[in-house]
Amino acid sequence: MKIGVPKEIKPNENRVSVVPSGVAALVSAGHTVTMESGAGVGAGFEDSLYQTAGAQLVEGPEPVWASADMIVKVKEPIEPEWSLIRPGQTLFTYFHFAANRPLTEAHLASGATCIAYETVQLASGELPLLTPMSEVAGRLAVQEGAHYLEKLYGGRGMLLGGVPGVLPAKVLILGGGVVGTQAAKMAAGLGAQVTVMDLSLERLRQLSDILPANVQLLFSSRHAILEQIRTADLVIGGVLVTGAAAPKLIRAEDLKLMQAGAVIVDVAVDQGGCVETTHPTTHADPIYVIDNVVHYAVANMPGAVPRTSTLALTNATLPYALQLANKGWQQALRENSALLKGLNIVAGNVTCQGIADAFGFNY
Ligand code: NAD
Repeated sequence: MKIGVPKEIKPNENRVSVVPSGVAALVSAGHTVTMESGAGVGAGFEDSLYQTAGAQLVEGPEPVWASADMIVKVKEPIEPEWSLIRPGQTLFTYFHFAANRPLTEAHLASGATCIAYETVQLASGELPLLTPMSEVAGRLAVQEGAHYLEKLYGGRGMLLGGVPGVLPAKVLILGGGVVGTQAAKMAAGLGAQVTVMDLSLERLRQLSDILPANVQLLFSSRHAILEQIRTADLVIGGVLVTGAAAPKLIRAEDLKLMQAGAVIVDVAVDQGGCVETTHPTTHADPIYVIDNVVHYAVANMPGAVPRTSTLALTNATLPYALQLANKGWQQALRENSALLKGLNIVAGNVTCQGIADAFGFNY
């Protein structure tokens, strides 16, 4: 199969969809990989590495799209790319169609087959191509929180782990899923006193087996949250109610209960945030302060670390890309029910209930 890897053109997107070892794997399976020159540079992969791995480098996006049976990307094609999509072409990338009607209509009109990373789902319910980005965001949340706790940024001027003779900072993590677990590991490793709150007792039991002793586990209730935020130095929001806006676990008036200079990193900002005062920010301007509480709410946190994020993403996507390339999308989806869940659009038809419901399309 002819596989195309364009350079991402969404602002501040430095990830790339295939790393050199992925190209080598695809080429050794008998496929050709055409890459846009410079596609990997933002993630630290020079063209020469791709050439050595067997990719054909071309200038600009047009020759990539024109020759490919399957395009593998990171982000959804944005408007300048829409006219490049060919009928019958397979697109394998993050789409998030249900949040964007023009994007959906453009892809319906294109005649392409769209397989979305974010809806590939295992029988266990896990979303294997979203998990790596939650892992990155969870770990990064602690790094960013530690940074903005510094006085210079309006933080309390505290070191997460304290020093001998000085108590460590208190880190409160709302939600013990992927983000929460990774955040807890990082914060605990830095020596903070960590509390993870979740609604699921089963989840709390699992966490008690895998997290270190400086992590306390607490059932999530309004009463317990109000008690915890009074002494928290850093709060990390990592809750998710699948398919719904994040519940507002910290209300605007609750900020007054918090310590001046406390920091909130609301990772759940992409679902509206679990703090009422959260609004999305960017890497260029990541924080704002309300009631002396520093808010960090960057909606695409993994973008700060494109090298790690690229490697984490492609570790997860490559096996699926190989199946699609080796078998063709129809056979691959017949044989892999997780991949079948990724099918969002085929030849002008919506094939995913959530997207059909979002826009009132036939399903
Ligand atoms: P997850 O499903 O693994 O975990 C969510 C957890 O929240 C679950 O354990 C659930 O029981 C818990 N929860 C639900 N309601 C709760 C409540 N009222 N109190 C306490 N816990 C509650 O989800 P995840 O992969 O960890 O993702 C968390 C959020 O982070 C999602 O909104 C995701 O989209 C977002 N995210 C953001 C970025 C970013 O760049 N900002 C990156 C990755 C993920």
